[in-house]
Amino acid sequence: MKELLDQYLSIRKRLKAYEYALYLISWDSETEAPSGCFDYRGEQIGVLVEESYKIETSKEYVHLIDELYKNRQELESDLRHEIQEVKKHIDKTKKIPMNQYIAFQVLLSKSPAIWADAKNKNDFSLFKPTLKEIIAFLRDYIHYLETDDCIGYNILLDEYEPGMTIEDYDQFFGELKTRLVPFVKQVLAKAKNQTNPLSQFSFPVNEQKKFCTYLQDVLGFNRTYGLMKESEHPFTSGSGSTDVRFTNHYYEDNVVSAIFSAIHEMGHGLYEQQCDPKYNGTFNQGGASLALHESQSRFYENVVGRSYEFWMKHYPQLQQQFPKQLEHLSLNDFYQAINQVKVSYIRTDADELTYSLHIMLRYDLEKAIFVEGLSIDELESKWNALFYEYFGLEVPSVKQGVLQDIHWAGGMFGYFPTYALGSAYSAQIFHHMKKDLSFKEVMASGNTKPINEWLKTKIHRYAASKYPKEIIREAIGEDFNVKYYVDYLINKYSHLYGISDYEN
Ligand SMILES: [Zn+2]
Repeated sequence: MKELLDQYLSIRKRLKAYEYALYLISWDSETEAPSGCFDYRGEQIGVLVEESYKIETSKEYVHLIDELYKNRQELESDLRHEIQEVKKHIDKTKKIPMNQYIAFQVLLSKSPAIWADAKNKNDFSLFKPTLKEIIAFLRDYIHYLETDDCIGYNILLDEYEPGMTIEDYDQFFGELKTRLVPFVKQVLAKAKNQTNPLSQFSFPVNEQKKFCTYLQDVLGFNRTYGLMKESEHPFTSGSGSTDVRFTNHYYEDNVVSAIFSAIHEMGHGLYEQQCDPKYNGTFNQGGASLALHESQSRFYENVVGRSYEFWMKHYPQLQQQFPKQLEHLSLNDFYQAINQVKVSYIRTDADELTYSLHIMLRYDLEKAIFVEGLSIDELESKWNALFYEYFGLEVPSVKQGVLQDIHWAGGMFGYFPTYALGSAYSAQIFHHMKKDLSFKEVMASGNTKPINEWLKTKIHRYAASKYPKEIIREAIGEDFNVKYYVDYLINKYSHLYGISDYEN
């Protein structure tokens, strides 16, 4: 056993080194790389990917994992979890015919450009054939991977959020449908003619950056082990707890965008930074799942960042940064402005209240495709019908409808629900956190340290050494329950929009 383990650890070390090199290259591609470098770069990436793939599929490695898996009861729990996951990954790879898999990768390398062109020309028919091919592959993929316990669309759902099934998501979105959709309609009616006082000003980018740097200290983002740069779309990436990076994007006419992107990405970043360093260099490194990751970013962005208590402390600082623009805007008006609800056709522009309805629409469609056999020829009209049902508006163009997201072009079906699940987790986590600490007091102290500590102890430190459902259960003493999320939203937005008699 000792020998097997030593061999495993030495191969893992090599695989992690390739992973680290590829992470750094991809970070550089998104932030600094000159536009002319990509052909040469592509060749180098190809070599690194091939080398690491060769190790992963080598007889020696596969045999090693098989042996360790057989004897997994002798391993300590962290390592046992890791070996189980590696084994699952290898088994999966073995079930998919190699030539079909490669053909799919080739398709996926071209499809985003085809999608982008179709979106630019506002013409769904240009993307349809590619989308049909992607779905045809995924149908085969499901077929190859089906087991006694997991079949159909569940295969895709499980891929992005381990343990989540159609049954779980139906219950989740069912609750949103019955309780949230009617409430949202009521808020939208109230919000109809409102204007946004922030939209009349311009906010110099350099000053926005200074404020985002200030926010790093407020949230306790550790700059010895992390940094912030710029990119077209904000994102976070990293490798282990000691190298965590995020990007932001600044718009002169929209200061709110950069502030909340920064807080959101730092939520992801704090999760990574607060993982127990003992997981660095292992396959238990990083967050436990997409939804759990998103629960942390949404928690900091919405629960903390869009709260009145947070800005009681930090609005004066923002006013100081932008004296001309904000001098006459009261804290209360600012708070209302950052929580304004309005219908957006575009998911990524949606506010906190309506966001998950955009996700629900996508889940409904994916389920229709993979469970009910909806044809791609019907997808556009089905999208528009559902949008009308949830938001009461006609979709004006495919650009603002079925063609808006890149996910499906990237073959990512089953991914979207994790966004909404993350938001819902954050509300449930908040409910339980408040039993241990006073949110008001923490916010008045000027930084989020006690909250960070709570999340670290209950969630972050475990990294990916356990399954997300397990981590949640142990952290808050119960399973996921959507009720907290809907209660949280109805409570917050009833207050904001003066809907005092809301029955729910
Ligand atoms: Zn996120």
